[in-house]
Amino acid sequence: MTLIPLSRRMVGVLAFAALSVSLALPAIARTPPGVLVVGQILEAPLKLLHAMPADKRAARIDGILDAVNLHAEFLDRYPHEFSGGQAQRIAIARALAAAPRILVLDEPVSALDVSMQAQVVNLLARLKDAFDLTYVFISHDLAVVEAVADRVAVMYFGRIVELAPARQIFAHPRHHYTALLARSAPAVGRPLAAPEGADAELPDPQNPPRGCAFAKRCPAATDVCRRVEPPLEDKGSAQYAACHHPAG
Ligand code: SF4
Repeated sequence: MTLIPLSRRMVGVLAFAALSVSLALPAIARTPPGVLVVGQILEAPLKLLHAMPADKRAARIDGILDAVNLHAEFLDRYPHEFSGGQAQRIAIARALAAAPRILVLDEPVSALDVSMQAQVVNLLARLKDAFDLTYVFISHDLAVVEAVADRVAVMYFGRIVELAPARQIFAHPRHHYTALLARSAPAVGRPLAAPEGADAELPDPQNPPRGCAFAKRCPAATDVCRRVEPPLEDKGSAQYAACHHPAG
């Protein structure tokens, strides 16, 4: 894993980008009527982060609107006048205005219907190439993750329990929680069935268990699982899992 040292400026840009996308959709949609029009929302990062003069700001905003397929006449409207999909594109445009290299997208499509999800996912894929972006894409929707991610980190109880290239992790999960997630995902033509018993117990954050936090739900758990917390280790082919008895 490569860690990138961040300058103070980059931390600011990353924080702004994270706020822009993770909070902007609900925030933009809920902005009280009459507060800021879209043009002012998009100008803010250009002024505050880049101290960009007014003439250059206008050109930059034109380019960003074009990239996210929004019309220039939207600049004078208020956020509450837009649909969910349009508000999401405004949120993405505001994040892009900060000229980030990394965007943290926290559940960016979970509030949209499936057809709108596909549009936004396609837009994000296009912008990734056009602006040379890296996304940290946070989602509970495995189908969306599979469509957008190059590498996937699966978290359970606050820890990364599996990390691998996306195709590999979906085709051959090594951690039993990843396997459970894959079995739980709804699929067209597959009957809905509970992937585990109704008595499956979630760990208590106030009283974290010893050993592997997934042990009470895991069909492969043994004594060592209940005593020793498994480290995240390379299980071969660049697939990392925190598991004493990884799935085949
Ligand atoms: S460490 Fe043990 S309990 Fe935890 S996922 Fe692996 S086999 Fe299951």
